[in-house]
Amino acid sequence: MQTGSESLMDVLSFKSYVVEEHEGKYSGEVKKRTLDDLPEDELLVKVHYSSLNYKDALSASGNKGVTKKYPHTPGVDAVGTVVHDFSGRFQEHEAVIVTGYDLGMNTPGGFGQYIRVPSSWAVRLPDGMTMQDAMIFGTAGLTAGLALLKITEALKPEDGRIAVSGASGGVGTMCIAMLAKLGYSVAAVSSKEQEREFLLTLGACEFLPRSDFDKESSSPLLKGEFSGVIDTVGGAVLSTLIRSVKPLGTVVACGNALSPKLELTVYPFILRGISLIGIDSQHCPMSVRETVWDRLAYQWKPEVFETLYREITLDEIGDTIDLMLKAKIKGRTLLNLNA
Ligand code: NDP
Repeated sequence: MQTGSESLMDVLSFKSYVVEEHEGKYSGEVKKRTLDDLPEDELLVKVHYSSLNYKDALSASGNKGVTKKYPHTPGVDAVGTVVHDFSGRFQEHEAVIVTGYDLGMNTPGGFGQYIRVPSSWAVRLPDGMTMQDAMIFGTAGLTAGLALLKITEALKPEDGRIAVSGASGGVGTMCIAMLAKLGYSVAAVSSKEQEREFLLTLGACEFLPRSDFDKESSSPLLKGEFSGVIDTVGGAVLSTLIRSVKPLGTVVACGNALSPKLELTVYPFILRGISLIGIDSQHCPMSVRETVWDRLAYQWKPEVFETLYREITLDEIGDTIDLMLKAKIKGRTLLNLNA
């Protein structure tokens, strides 16, 4: 086994996917980087795996709400081994997960073979979870887990169907597979008719086309069909779903892949007692993160886990980002930094 200092001396340079800005256009390529390109911080991690999330696609395509300065290495997720930790919280060679905070936004992220971050951003890899599994979950799994905490607190399986929108995406597939494992009936709301069978094999009991939900309408309330909702797309879909929830139902809002806007009246809340709960995986408290990661390791790990992802290398990340921006990806994308 190498010592920390030997490892550091070996790191003359490493590979990173670097996005650059040229006259308002953004493009990325794999480049050599050195540790001097990373910020000064406590915890240096050799990254083994990362994963692709929607926010990474935004960062890689110049979304200034996500990343302000370029050149930049995206990657809001990373798992790897500790090279050193000046805070003393972690030992050399310990496996840690880093997701959210500023990683991959304005701090060089997991699309590079090393990251350097505050040690308060890291979670110990739970017992029983491999590094590969941690990044198959990644931010999408953590977000789905946070949504599951809220749904399971509020609703029992016998209360009725839970609708999951953006169903074929990373957060959507994780939510469906985990809800199904816990015995909930899940309606998958998706734009991809071609993924109907896939979504049913994840455990959804029905497939509902997104086109049934994405029309603007002025009706303050619609027929109450669902006991709960996990929404990842926002906009008219979220508005329609909130108005389609039965009295005392719970809606969890995670994303805005369709739109950040939400047009509604207050009637679903004051006439049906609906609760609308937001999820913020980026800043969620460490104690909650640890709870969710522990549950992901065993209790909530989907039976169909192996069907939820495909693995790519750093050389394939640019093309995969383009596909994500066109909503042409299903499930999760695991990035192997050492292949
Ligand atoms: P993915 O790209 O993997 O999935 C998004 C899914 O949403 C797609 O598969 C598609 O599903 C649907 N979709 C994509 N583009 C559009 C569009 N233009 N209009 C309508 N639907 C669309 O992303 P993730 O699952 O990683 O993330 C989903 C959302 O959740 C994003 O908005 C992301 O920013 C947000 N998010 C929020 C987090 C939080 O902490 N709150 C953490 C992680 C993600 P289909 O074709 O099946 O309808």
